[in-house]
Amino acid sequence: MLPGLVAGHYTFDESHIDLAPLARWAGAALLATRVERLDAQGRVAHCADGSAQAFDVCGIDIGSTPGMDVPGAREHALGIKPVERFLACWAEELEHARHGTRKDIAVVGGGAGGLEILLALQHAARAAIAEPANQPRFHLLTDTPSILPSHTPVVRRLFEGVLGRRGVAVHTGARVIEVEPSLLRCAGGAEVRADLIVWATSASAAPWIRESGLAVDDKGFMLVDRHLESTSHRQLFGSGDIAALRSRKLPKSGVFAVRKGPVLAHNLRAALRGKPLLPFITKPSALGLITTGDRYAVMAWGRFALAGQWVWRWKDFIDRRFMAKYRRPGAGG
Ligand SMILES: Cc1cc2nc3c(=O)[nH]c(=O)nc-3n(C[C@H](O)[C@H](O)[C@H](O)COP(=O)(O)OP(=O)(O)OC[C@H]3O[C@@H](n4cnc5c(N)ncnc54)[C@H](O)[C@@H]3O)c2cc1C
Repeated sequence: MLPGLVAGHYTFDESHIDLAPLARWAGAALLATRVERLDAQGRVAHCADGSAQAFDVCGIDIGSTPGMDVPGAREHALGIKPVERFLACWAEELEHARHGTRKDIAVVGGGAGGLEILLALQHAARAAIAEPANQPRFHLLTDTPSILPSHTPVVRRLFEGVLGRRGVAVHTGARVIEVEPSLLRCAGGAEVRADLIVWATSASAAPWIRESGLAVDDKGFMLVDRHLESTSHRQLFGSGDIAALRSRKLPKSGVFAVRKGPVLAHNLRAALRGKPLLPFITKPSALGLITTGDRYAVMAWGRFALAGQWVWRWKDFIDRRFMAKYRRPGAGG
């Protein structure tokens, strides 16, 4: 629902789950702090507030953030995750844009996340800025030869049409090698000027996972077996984006993160009680619903694609129903 929140279709409360009542209902202590270091051998999590949490069994589900290893990206670009930082910065940027001081906005990353965010930002800017001359120009940069490299040609064509109609400057084959204040330098010498640079490239893992001594894949994601248990440390489980199954590669997507949840919950309890663990079994496919910021969406299912306002309404229904389960803890979900 993040693009919908950015586009102005949802309020903050509609698109967030309040963990405090959920934790109370589950009988869990909620510690609102950030794990910065994990002693996987000694079984202690070291937190940003200076506390250290000892554990017997641990589930790691910290998600992922866009990879920002390009020189200057961390300093001069705004990552779409962590979400709370992104939202706070975008609110400020929109204020600047209203006064016409943000002429060009660039989004780096031509996958579904980058496209959705760009189109949502543009929708929000159009709604907030009355003066047409103050409307920022949007740029999309991707290092691949076309947008949406992991989608089918029909989905790609649909989005190429949307981007064309919305006047977005698309820079394909543009591998950003350096970011300076308001400037993107690409391999081959091309440059794109932008007053705001949003970073939405593919997922990367928090470095403390590798540093903790846990087994990781070539990108630093926590390697887990079919029970979602670390391949190097018993009773440490990984789920969601941060986990990489040893046996098969799955997309980093919310759909798969949600599917892993019940298996993680079962296996955390089973590990404590010395009971058998459940394997994570899933279909490799998932329904893709990609929004265009203006209450319109594209549905991708295998080789098929459909688009329309009704697709957005359908996605809206699915998302709201999912969120409602966590507003009434105990009522299901
Ligand atoms: C713009 C955009 C649109 C997307 N749209 C879709 C979509 O339509 N469908 C889909 O399936 N997927 C979508 N995704 C992908 C989806 O958001 C992720 O795959 C999903 O959120 C992963 O779930 P997760 O639980 O692993 O991590 P997250 O949802 O990222 O949750 C991780 C949580 O851990 C917390 N955390 C992180 N580090 C620490 C730490 N060190 N200590 C304590 N807490 C920590 C974070 O604050 C966060 O609350 C989209 C992503 C983006 C960016």
